[in-house]
Formats: sequence, C-alpha cells, structure tokens
Amino acid sequence: MKAIEVDDLVKKIVAKVAKELAQEGEKYPSSVKDIVEITSKAQKTWQWDFNLESRSKIIAALKTKLLPHAEELAQLAREDTNMGCLDDKILKKKLSIIKTPGPEYFTTRAISGDNGLVLEELAPFGVIVSITPSTNPVATVINNTICMLSGGNGVVFSPHPGALRCTFKTIDLIRSILAQEGAPADVVSVLSDASLDSLKELMSHPEVKLVSATGGPGVVKAALSSGKPAIGAGPGNPPVLVDETAHLEKAAKDVIAGASFDNNLPCIAEKELIAVNCIADELKEYMCKNGAFELKDRTKIEALANLVLTKDQKIKKDMVGKDASVYLARLGIAPPPNVRLILVECDEKHPFVQEELMMPILAMVRVADFKEGLAMAKRVEHDFRHSAVIHSTNIDNMSDMAKFMETSIFVKNAPSFAGIGIRGDCPTSFTIGTTTGDGPTTPLSFCRVRRCVLHGAFRIV
Ligand code: NAD
Repeated sequence: MKAIEVDDLVKKIVAKVAKELAQEGEKYPSSVKDIVEITSKAQKTWQWDFNLESRSKIIAALKTKLLPHAEELAQLAREDTNMGCLDDKILKKKLSIIKTPGPEYFTTRAISGDNGLVLEELAPFGVIVSITPSTNPVATVINNTICMLSGGNGVVFSPHPGALRCTFKTIDLIRSILAQEGAPADVVSVLSDASLDSLKELMSHPEVKLVSATGGPGVVKAALSSGKPAIGAGPGNPPVLVDETAHLEKAAKDVIAGASFDNNLPCIAEKELIAVNCIADELKEYMCKNGAFELKDRTKIEALANLVLTKDQKIKKDMVGKDASVYLARLGIAPPPNVRLILVECDEKHPFVQEELMMPILAMVRVADFKEGLAMAKRVEHDFRHSAVIHSTNIDNMSDMAKFMETSIFVKNAPSFAGIGIRGDCPTSFTIGTTTGDGPTTPLSFCRVRRCVLHGAFRIV
C-alpha cells in the first residue's frame, strides 16, 4: 500500500472513531445555553429542596452504588486512553468513591459577643464547570461530583476529547443513581461537544459561577482567563529525595510503588529521584531487586529519549503512560518479568529530569549531600508548588524540605500516593489546586463563605 493510501485509511478510521465517540454524548443537549439552563434549574432544586440530611443520604447512596462499577470504569478508561495500569486504575476509582469527603466535612463558624451572634457558613457557588484530564478522567469526575454536590452545587463537566467514552459512562451512571434516589439528575451534566470553542462559551456563560480546571498549563491559563473565579489544578514535576539516613530498602520499594503507580500518570507521582551519592548505589540495587530495570547503556538511553521526546525535547503524547516493558521492547531489550519502572541515571539538565514525563521512566540524579539535593529538588519542581517526597530519618532534613519546597502535598517516608489517601490517613483529591493555592480540594473548596450578623440577640450567656 502506498504511503498516501495508508494516510487516507488512518484519517478515515480516526474520523469513524471520533464520530462513534461523539455519539456517546448525543443524549445531552448540544447547545451550551441549553446545558447550562438545565443544570442551573436542577442546581436550584438541589440547593433548596434537599436539606443536608437528604443530600448526605443521596451522596452515601451514590458512593455505594458506584463502587461495583469501579472495575468496568477503569477498564473503559484504559481502553479509551490507552494509558496506565488496569489494577491501579481500579484502585483510583475505589479511592475516589470511598475516600472523597462529603457533606460531613462542613462545619459552621459562629462568633458570639456583646453585639449578638455572627454565623459564617459555606454556601454553593451555583453551577461549576469542571474540566477533566485524560490521565485521570473517571476518578476526577467522581471526586469532583461528590465534592461539588456535597456543597449544593451543580456541575457541567468538560471531558477530555481523548477520554469521552469513559467520561460519558461515569456521568451516565452518576445521573441514573441520582435519579433513582429522587435527586435531579441534571445537577450533573456534560458538554457533549468537547471542543475548545464550546468550552470557552461555557466558561463565559453568566450562570457559570466557578471554573475548576484539572490539567496542564494551557487549561489552567484558560480557566484563569475566563473572568470567573477559578481553581487551577495544574501540572507538577514532583521530586523524591533520598538521603543517607533513609531506610534504603523501604525507600526503594516506596519510590517504585509511587513512580510506577498507574504508569506514572498521576500528577503527584515521583517524577525524578535525587539521591545522596554515598547511598545511591545501594538504593539502586534495592530498586533493581524490586521491580526497576536500570538502563545503563548510553546509546540505549539516547534511543529512549528519541522514543519518548520530540525534537524540541517535549514529551510525545502518544508515549505517555505505557507499561515499562513497552518502552524496553521498543529499544530491543527483552523486558525482565514484573518490571514496573525504568531507572536512568542522568544529570539535572536532562529532559527526563526537567519534563513531566508521565511515563514509568525515572531519572536519578546524584548529589553530594542533602543540602545540594534540596536546592536541586526546588529547581526541578519548577515552582509548580505541587508535590514532593523525602525518604529520611533525619528530622531536620524532613522539616527543612517540607518548609522549603512549599508544595501543596509533601510526603515523608511513603510513596507519593500517601498524599491522596492510599496508605495515608487523608481524604482523597484528584483536583489539587496548585496554581490557585487551594491545595488538595475538598467539598469546602467549591463553596463560598457567607456571613450573617444578628445584632443584639441570640447570645446564651
Ligand atoms: P491537558 O491539559 O491536555 O487536558 C486537560 C483538559 O484541558 C482537557 O479536558 C482538555 O480538553 C482541556 N484543555 C487543554 N488545553 C486547553 C486550552 N488551551 N483551553 C481550554 N481547555 C483546554 O492535560 P492532560 O494531558 O489530559 O492531563 C495531564 C496534565 O494534567 C498533567 O500536566 C498533570 O500534571 C495535570 N494534572 C493535574 C492534576 C492536579 O490535581 N493538579 C490532576 C491530574 C492531572
């Protein structure tokens, strides 16, 4: 077949698949105006006709009824995006269902004094637009839905064009559970035409009161330029620093667990390893015994860079989130059994260190001591103020890094995912408001504070 014919064939297949995917969303109104109208109407009912008790019951039912679908949704997300590991995706879905906080998270602040009583409560914004990433399409929808609905909001999701089927399916399920529980299903809607023009129109609709953008720098910029209050959950490049006082075997296992989780797709996942020189070799040995494969040959390292990076040293999107064995096979290396991560020693300037690869390829850089490592960690995190990890038993080092990094999430002596509740006693969040400073979002993040002052009464002492 000639190259031109192959090109035509590929175009036809792409067009057919795009059409099929678009059809998944056909049951939703296609006009932005209509979507916002139905969501806004449903949101008002949800806010005013469903008190805290009934909202809590409905959200509890939503969690219970979504849980049996975790596997199916994970499978769909894997198929749609062709990224990540199925088992980890299932865990992410379960995590987002079980550990996303709900209405129980709210407290009321009351101030009483000589003049009477002041109440400060958290109230819904109204209709929120939530833009979701391809790396985490289902868990973000579930996590955002629970948080946003808990506060009485409605939400219109803007799905990633590369993850339409799993996003529509998740939203269909949520809507049908809401309807079964007697809640207005339209309180959760979706933009069926996921084009940037429609998204712009959606964000500028007067009834949209908050934009939540989870994704790369482009979408965060778009949300912040929308003229609406916005939560910007942007990119990260989390460093993990291992010093000479760390429990090395545990550190090695934890780094592998975090950096290979869902093939390194999560924004919080360890993206580069900074190791103090005197323990670097031992650390590598432990890593190689526990699922890492060290690529040492310089020509192979160059070939790997050519495989996953463009000429201007940016990531090739179609190489994101594959199994470690896929990259090795493409380099002509027979992948060892159970390999989860490719380890590559390089210097700080290397794009494997500088770029947010989102691939199970972990660059390791040696430093003379903790101080040098800390300065490097700060540089390579690029001031995203997203996430960072340390393995150490030196309390001063742990504290210094926690303070100096200024990240939204900082994990000590555990895989990065402890910061979102896996082996960590915290609620989960799949929208970490880095750029706008909201941190790991909860139901509180999607509400606004309203104050009510009552003069001269209601004190009880
Ligand atoms: P992406 O930026 O390509 O897409 C995210 C969403 O934004 C999609 O819905 C896409 O359609 C939309 N979008 C992209 N460019 C846009 C623009 N200019 N205007 C309006 N909308 C636009 O991101 P991705 O590749 O799907 O996801 C990976 C990125 O997301 C990584 O950088 C990762 O760190 C980040 N992320 C951050 C968090 C967090 O909580 N901070 C969570 C998950 C992913």
